[in-house]
Amino acid sequence: LDVNFAPYINFKGESKGVVVVLHDITEIRRLEKMRSDFVANVSHELRTPITSIKGFTETLLDGAMQDEETCRNFLQIISDESERLYRMIRDILDLSKIEQRRIPLQKEQVHVQDVITSAVAIVNDTAQRKNLTITLPGTKPDIWLMTDRDCLQQIILNLLANAVAYTPENGSVTILTEVTHQQLRLQVIDTGIGIPESDLSRIFERFYRVDKARSRDSGGTGLGLAIVKHLVDNLNGQIFVDSVEGRGTTFTILLPGVEKFTERLQ
Ligand code: ADP
Repeated sequence: LDVNFAPYINFKGESKGVVVVLHDITEIRRLEKMRSDFVANVSHELRTPITSIKGFTETLLDGAMQDEETCRNFLQIISDESERLYRMIRDILDLSKIEQRRIPLQKEQVHVQDVITSAVAIVNDTAQRKNLTITLPGTKPDIWLMTDRDCLQQIILNLLANAVAYTPENGSVTILTEVTHQQLRLQVIDTGIGIPESDLSRIFERFYRVDKARSRDSGGTGLGLAIVKHLVDNLNGQIFVDSVEGRGTTFTILLPGVEKFTERLQ
């Protein structure tokens, strides 16, 4: 609590008491703490790939370069870690822009299946390498939503990329869409490793990962779901997660703005 006192003097110049102004600064303190925690987290997260890039480069310069295979392995690690560093910086900047709503929403009529198809095209290579099947059994084949196309694309892409990353070989990923109560209901369902119940409430936090090593191996930044959550909020939607460890995970988003849709084609 921030307290300020000032004498209260009336128009005749007589002192009539004091004015006390009370400011509740818990909210300000909380935001300050969040900001400093974020800076600490960011520094820590950025340091990890840099330490690895530095370490492998130094080892190469110290003589490991003589052996071609070692050289190739180390360079591959350096290249992967640089990529991850790049993605992390991009995600941090995206997240801060989204949080401060610095990107104005550009709403237009968006054909949902179009956006899904282009998101699938982006993860297709990775999915094929793991022999994953991606299916889109459209219960309502065509849905048009008044929304921001880029936001919707990023939401779907991040959920899809996670489904692909956290599903072992030969698994499957399903994307379901339907209209309920004038809202789009979109689900990304995977048959992957799942998320332990105790972690479910925290996965939308920045940099929170169930398994740091696995996230790193999959090229994760720990920011994907934080970005998704903020984007869904900006679009006035909701997001839910259901998961069974070892069985799979389902992310469900509800978004307003359904303009029109066609019934299931029989
Ligand atoms: P990351 O870059 O680590 O994937 P995210 O913010 O996208 O970061 O996800 C946070 C964490 O939630 C992941 O590290 C992972 O542990 C868990 N997670 C997200 N999606 C899935 C999924 N489909 N299946 C299992 N775990 C998931």
